[in-house]
Amino acid sequence: MRIKADFDLCEANGVCVGFAPEFFDLDDDDYLVILSDEVPDEKVDEVRRAVAGCPKSALRLE
Ligand code: SF4
Repeated sequence: MRIKADFDLCEANGVCVGFAPEFFDLDDDDYLVILSDEVPDEKVDEVRRAVAGCPKSALRLE
């Protein structure tokens, strides 16, 4: 599965980073960075929690 982010919706609060730091980070200017958009099967649940936890609904898994 792949992570899709809507950077216009993201407010860079870092919630997703807390759930799945292998996949999400904030850069020095507080912009969201997707470290890897390919999600292996064993990491899907972790990334789903990040997607569900995003208060701006800026993330999708497809
Ligand atoms: S949880 Fe959502 S709003 Fe917060 S940094 Fe991640 S994508 Fe952006």
